[in-house]
Amino acid sequence: MGNRIMLVDSSTAAREVLARRLQIAMPEIAITSCASATEALDRMEQERYSLITTALLLPDMDGLDFCRNIRASKRNRYAPVVVVSSDADQRLLHEGFNAGVTDYFDKALGFKVFGQFIKSFMERNPDLCGRILYIEDSKTVALATRQILEQHGMEVTHVFSVEEAQSLLEKAQSQQDDGFDMVITDFHLKGEMTGGDLLYFVRVGLHYSQQELPVLVTTGNEETHTQVEVFNAGANDFVIKPLIEEVVMARIRSLLLVKYQYDRLLHQTEDMERIATTDALTGTRNRRYLVDEGQRFLFSAADGWVMIIDLDHFKRINDTKGHLVGDQVLMALGRLLNQRFKDGLPFRFGGEEFVVIAHGAEMPARAEDLRLAVETLLPAGIEVTVSIGLACVEDHPGDDLNTLLSHADMALYAAKEEGRNQAHVNSRGGSIRPAIQEIRF
Ligand code: GH3
Ligand code: MG
Ligand code: MG
Ligand code: MG
Repeated sequence: MGNRIMLVDSSTAAREVLARRLQIAMPEIAITSCASATEALDRMEQERYSLITTALLLPDMDGLDFCRNIRASKRNRYAPVVVVSSDADQRLLHEGFNAGVTDYFDKALGFKVFGQFIKSFMERNPDLCGRILYIEDSKTVALATRQILEQHGMEVTHVFSVEEAQSLLEKAQSQQDDGFDMVITDFHLKGEMTGGDLLYFVRVGLHYSQQELPVLVTTGNEETHTQVEVFNAGANDFVIKPLIEEVVMARIRSLLLVKYQYDRLLHQTEDMERIATTDALTGTRNRRYLVDEGQRFLFSAADGWVMIIDLDHFKRINDTKGHLVGDQVLMALGRLLNQRFKDGLPFRFGGEEFVVIAHGAEMPARAEDLRLAVETLLPAGIEVTVSIGLACVEDHPGDDLNTLLSHADMALYAAKEEGRNQAHVNSRGGSIRPAIQEIRF
């Protein structure tokens, strides 16, 4: 579900400027703008918003009253409200908090700052709607709880038994689509298995930590030993039935925040790893990644190949067209390799040389196809060609990546000697032959 912002201001010009600023700061966001409180409250009955910003002076209602109305609404009572005011109004400071104002923005700071302010606000206060797996064996309780959760924008999958929950969780994990952000389960269930069994399955069976998959337990029992049992079983938290909307939502929100921060950290780590192993100019992997991962990938199947691709007379391009044009040529070749060898690993080996590690008997044919594709690539409008050298694991049993690279380099050398714009294979016994002759039909 994408983030939505509601923007309320009686001035058409102000609405347009503010909306534009928000869109620049957050291109992926959807903005709804309204000229009056009545119009805004109407829209809010239909839709949930991640954030609402409003002027203090509205044609049909005082801004703080508008805020009170939002707090009393069904769908948007928890949405942050940011008041945009021309001066830090004393009334706003005194009454605003009680009326439910979350924060305010001083218009004097300028429209440009406004976009940045809201962006940073939303990063610090993420809109936490999650996909919840809910296990409850009472139909009536489930119906009522589900209604509350859905009103707050949660996506709920309800099942009656632990067995059903187990199969959904197993499916989500095997498909690696991390299907649920959290689990809410009743502790005492009528079936064979209880909430404790489900927790054991989640923590021990599927190895989800409390950050990866928070579990909130509902229980009708206030006794201390039950509470201890719930925590020992691996729950993050519990709530006592009958559920009180404010309490259960506060608990859910704090657990979704745990999950959200965990996911963010994970993505940041992945991004950093990718950046550290990618060549900035060409977008292919860098030499460091070749050293770390190349050997393992090459031997991950029996039919591994290494291919070295070297641009022909590249120095001339630099000398006659300039270094920047040379860079454009390298970028274009990097992109082409990434496109054509998604199943393999393209690397920038250094300078104007690339290496691709891939699998399959059709590699000589793919090398020929690549060579032809470069002929018509015309990066920066320039005709360029490549020479290619190949070697495969099956022809050189026992040799490691480094040795295979030197076999491929010998084939590349031959391709250059024979006049460039050619692909050669260093095949069995060290005989070097044009790739064309290695293509088997
Ligand atoms: P050959 O056909 O024998 O491969 O000739 P060549 O000119 O391509 O080979 P040579 O090894 O003599 O020259 C490679 C050139 O690549 C020299 C170097 O300045 C240039 N080069 C290396 N890295 C970069 C880069 O990042 N950007 C640009 N523009 N040029 C680079
Ligand atoms: Mg060279
Ligand atoms: Mg070259
Ligand atoms: Mg070279």
